[in-house]
Amino acid sequence: MKIAIVGFGVSGAALLMALKTTGKLDKNDVTVDIFDPREEFAVGPAYQKDTKYLLLNAFPTAMSLKNDEPMDFPNWLEEHYPEYESTVDLVPRTIYGEYAKERIEPLLELENVNYINQEVIDIEVRAEQNGLLYQLEDAQGELYDDYDYLFLAVGVPDYQDFYNLRGTENYVHNPYPVIEKLKDLDEDKHIAIIGSGLTAFDIVNYLSHEKKLTQPIGVFTNRPDFNSLRVSPYRGPALTYSLDKEWIDNELRTHKGYIPLERIVETVQADLIENNIDLNAIRAKYDPADLDKTYQTYFGQEHPDLSKVQAYIAKLSPNLGDLYMSLTKGDVVRFRLDYAPLFSHYQVRLAPDAVENMYHLTTEDKLFVVPDLVEIEKEDRFILKSLSGETFEADIVINATGFAYNTDLITSEDNALLRKLLDKGFLLDKEKRGILVTWPETKVMNQTFGKLDNCFYIGPWLTNTHFGNNNVKALVRKANEIVVNYMG
Ligand SMILES: Cc1cc2nc3c(=O)[nH]c(=O)nc-3n(C[C@H](O)[C@H](O)[C@H](O)COP(=O)(O)OP(=O)(O)OC[C@H]3O[C@@H](n4cnc5c(N)ncnc54)[C@H](O)[C@@H]3O)c2cc1C
Repeated sequence: MKIAIVGFGVSGAALLMALKTTGKLDKNDVTVDIFDPREEFAVGPAYQKDTKYLLLNAFPTAMSLKNDEPMDFPNWLEEHYPEYESTVDLVPRTIYGEYAKERIEPLLELENVNYINQEVIDIEVRAEQNGLLYQLEDAQGELYDDYDYLFLAVGVPDYQDFYNLRGTENYVHNPYPVIEKLKDLDEDKHIAIIGSGLTAFDIVNYLSHEKKLTQPIGVFTNRPDFNSLRVSPYRGPALTYSLDKEWIDNELRTHKGYIPLERIVETVQADLIENNIDLNAIRAKYDPADLDKTYQTYFGQEHPDLSKVQAYIAKLSPNLGDLYMSLTKGDVVRFRLDYAPLFSHYQVRLAPDAVENMYHLTTEDKLFVVPDLVEIEKEDRFILKSLSGETFEADIVINATGFAYNTDLITSEDNALLRKLLDKGFLLDKEKRGILVTWPETKVMNQTFGKLDNCFYIGPWLTNTHFGNNNVKALVRKANEIVVNYMG
């Protein structure tokens, strides 16, 4: 059996690990070819070699590459970096990259595993007597034939370009790896960061520690609040949690194939009451609208109620894909508008160290935040305008506005393979927001052959199916599920 894995970040690595832990790699007739043009394997852009000032946004217990061993990364951390508290510290992402490489390297040395350091630029599917087979072409024109199984794990979308600045001089569209992209910044220039999410914290953390900037950094955003911070993990009695697989299956039967959003909301509300969680009180406290209030809210205090909410959300996360896929189209839209931002506010955790650093920079006049950016023009310098009528000038603009989840915006330059596969109907998109796959198998839907039983897609481009999956835990779980339940 010939298997191809295209893309070898965390998703590809998790697939290979799952093939190993389930014994599939030990079979004599199995060979696995892995394709990725990156110098570093198993890390992708998130965990590649970079400055130590880029931190994880999830507890180490949520970062294991082995589905059944959540302590694998914390144990590794304890052994290699005992200075950290191994289950709770948001350690540098580059350390996670070291862990991933150390776990994957022995698998790459197996005789039946080949790591091919090339970009795949095209794929063809052929109907043969005993099923569909795949042929891959790499960027050098080399062909690789007859794969019985194909896994596509080609990663994150490109970054958004809200202000049409791509290609403009002194605009950094994709800031990673920051040690490369930002290393030659002129320290006397005015720097503007656009966006206030995790990437903005990464960049401020790097610049303030590694550069001697003489001008204050401007952080320009169009939403005033920040994600919630990592607080101590919840350690109280087990929480009541109702929306498990059994509940979902029952509800789907009752409602003939879908679950009304109201039903999900009222069940979550009942759980919250049962767990003594007052979400309104928590929102009133933990939705501060600026950095100053964020700092005053979080630092020097305990956060038992927020810990509980974050623990409840962690319980919800594994079922999120199934719940999302059980909604009607109209409810999906309502969910995205009314609930998804709230969910991600508490799901993604900012590293307290990075927030504390940003706060102290503001008190020392080394950083300022503009919460209502509306426009950027480029003349000799960049002109940034706020809704309140203020104008700011900057020499360098760094993009931290997040990913562009729109398949129409994929260019051949950014991802030649996805562009080609979408253009020729090998892949279909799901309402432009992602790749169309079956759920929960994540088998690819193809224009000619319909469902491809031996071709799976995994990764962030499935956000319109596998909602909330852009994290290691969800990707590792899905990789395992594919290999165990759906590969045959
Ligand atoms: C900056 C950042 C920080 C994050 N921090 C966290 C965190 O702390 N905790 C957490 O749980 N999650 C975090 N995430 C989210 C998540 O872990 C990543 O998005 C995840 O690593 C995605 O893995 P992936 O393998 O699907 O994609 P990627 O990591 O993007 O890997 C895809 C790989 O496919 C390769 N590829 C692409 N096209 C081709 C092709 N045509 N042929 C061959 N190879 C190809 C690429 O070179 C790349 O190596 C973070 C994400 C980012 C971007």
